[in-house]
Amino acid sequence: MAIQAIRLFGDPVLRTPAAPVVDFDKELRKLVKDLTDTMMDAPGAGLAAPQIGVGLRVFTYYVDDQLGHLINPDLDLSDELDEEGEEGCLSFPGLSYPTPRAVRAVAKGFDMHGEPVVLEGTDLMARCFQHETDHLDGILFIDRMDLKQRKLAMKAIREAEWTGAAAPTFKLSPHATGGRAL
Ligand SMILES: [Zn+2]
Repeated sequence: MAIQAIRLFGDPVLRTPAAPVVDFDKELRKLVKDLTDTMMDAPGAGLAAPQIGVGLRVFTYYVDDQLGHLINPDLDLSDELDEEGEEGCLSFPGLSYPTPRAVRAVAKGFDMHGEPVVLEGTDLMARCFQHETDHLDGILFIDRMDLKQRKLAMKAIREAEWTGAAAPTFKLSPHATGGRAL
């Protein structure tokens, strides 16, 4: 089995920006497989490499029955926002909150063989691309919530059963910047 432990909020790896992939080699293909297996087992709609402790710019997704991965993603976002959509995160088990995201995203990057890929997503797929790319920059969904939601989320995090498992710290960025978790 290639299922890996999912890192929880409080683990410093989730706040560390990931490095671009340079070598499209066997190791990278194993990472994509580990991410895919771990995401499907969770189950989740998306998983980024830092969530399994690997600091590389790689994520996988499983949204609307579409399974895939993207390496070194670069996003173009619509101006139109979905303010109300609920979002969860596998690194914050059991919690989901309305989180503003662009409605449409075009994600450019590479597949595991180094071939250029362009993916277009709307709604949940677009939300997934934004959530996972944020993970690669050390940004978490609580950073994207409005102040009121973030306060609710932090209270729930402090009370969550898994809190303390990874010695969480509660430092938050001062910049505010349904279904399966991401
Ligand atoms: Zn997440």
